[in-house]
Amino acid sequence: MQVDVLTIFPNLLVSPLQEGIIQRAIVSGALEVFAHNIRDHALGKHAMTDDRPFGGGEGMVMKPEPIVAALRQVLTQRPGAHVILLTPQGRQYSQKMAEDLAKKEHIVLLCGRYEGVDARVEEHIDAEISIGDYVLTGGELAALVIIDSVTRLLPGVLGCSDSAECDTFSRGLLKYPQYTRPRQFEGQEVPELLLSGDHKLISQWRFVESVKRTKARRPDLLQGANFSSQERKLLVGHGVELVESVVAGKDDLH
Ligand code: SAM
Repeated sequence: MQVDVLTIFPNLLVSPLQEGIIQRAIVSGALEVFAHNIRDHALGKHAMTDDRPFGGGEGMVMKPEPIVAALRQVLTQRPGAHVILLTPQGRQYSQKMAEDLAKKEHIVLLCGRYEGVDARVEEHIDAEISIGDYVLTGGELAALVIIDSVTRLLPGVLGCSDSAECDTFSRGLLKYPQYTRPRQFEGQEVPELLLSGDHKLISQWRFVESVKRTKARRPDLLQGANFSSQERKLLVGHGVELVESVVAGKDDLH
């Protein structure tokens, strides 16, 4: 996958791409990230990328010409790339959106600064994404969040092929609690069943704990959950009560 990032602060992207799984993905060729400095496309002696807002008001607005020129240059090399504007006004980012983006060959991430970008840039954009209901100083961290979450979904990037499939959100549930050595830590024991070597029982325990955890922390997610009749039996057997609309699995609909 190729990711082009348009920014006035390309150095902000350097270090996060040089560590861990992202760095490995780049070395393996699964991911290519190109940072483009919007300022390189700015006009005039001072190469201004921002100006005062028409109509008055606080702050500065990013000028459209350098952004659109930078975009056009990138799109010449990667025609058909999916262009995303990072903005707190966009659709809220989710694991489902990360999965959809991971299927694309090229994405372009446009990072705003100051009070945001001139509204006339919007017609050059395919999607507007927000990483949450808070306001950052710029889009670079949001771009990195997208790069990070998408990279781990690219084929062959994670060591174990099914790691991402068992992650939180992958089937609308939070992940079960996990433990590693030591077996005892400050008086707390690892659940005995996890030491049993019985993979069927372990897998059932994980499923039940995953549902319990989701119910306690993110009950909203359970509205979209779909359980098989076997899973429902298991949950009932472990005393996990769910409202009927959630408990009903696909196989009950016909
Ligand atoms: N004045 C803008 C508004 O009220 O919508 C906010 C501008 S913000 C200070 C500057 C830039 O940071 C935005 O153009 C955007 O690129 C980025 N940004 C801020 N919050 C973000 C968020 N939650 N998700 C994605 N990008 C964000």
